[in-house]
Amino acid sequence: MEVVLASSNHGKIKEFKDILGNVGLNIIPQKEFSIESADETGLTFVENAILKARHASIQAKLPAIADDSGLQVDFLKGAPGIYSARYAGEKATDDENNNYLLKRLKRVPKALRTARYQTVIVFLKHFADPKPIICEAHWEGHIATDNQGDGGFGYDPLFIPLGQTLSAAEMKMNEKNKVSHRARALSKLLDYFADPQDTLW
Ligand code: IMP
Repeated sequence: MEVVLASSNHGKIKEFKDILGNVGLNIIPQKEFSIESADETGLTFVENAILKARHASIQAKLPAIADDSGLQVDFLKGAPGIYSARYAGEKATDDENNNYLLKRLKRVPKALRTARYQTVIVFLKHFADPKPIICEAHWEGHIATDNQGDGGFGYDPLFIPLGQTLSAAEMKMNEKNKVSHRARALSKLLDYFADPQDTLW
């Protein structure tokens, strides 16, 4: 089955292709249909993931997969959340977002720096699918007081997974891809394709 993937992130495209290729899905990135990114105007991860998938599905005329993710910091009442990519400003870089986060958490003790990566992956069987498959997962941890490591992307140099001392940016990519929020949401989607309780079409 051909499925359009509503993402332009190379790392994600590879992860989705590798994992979902195993269950016979031909994952085609939206760029191959010259589809631009959708506006993320929702107020929740679920809404944004559905908006992105629907946008890609309409244009490619195919079933679609999209994800929406972000970092939620408890001391900041869940911020940056759905605004994670643009926390320090509309076109902010990862470094700017990380520095802004450190500033907001200045002098906050470790016990109050708990946080999690949150993700929602959506599969739409067609653009008007009234019953999308929605897979949620999160990855618990806390925010370090300084950047640690230079792997990964986004907030990884500041995110210390629960029970670890290394940041997500210090983990090997294949290790992160086994335990991360996205890996676990993808594994739920894999379960769905392995045994869909629903008629696909
Ligand atoms: P997206 O919706 O997956 O593109 O993620 C939005 C933003 O959340 C990214 O730009 C990152 O700032 C942050 N984010 C999501 N997942 C991760 C991750 O695995 N590591 C680091 N940052 C992440």
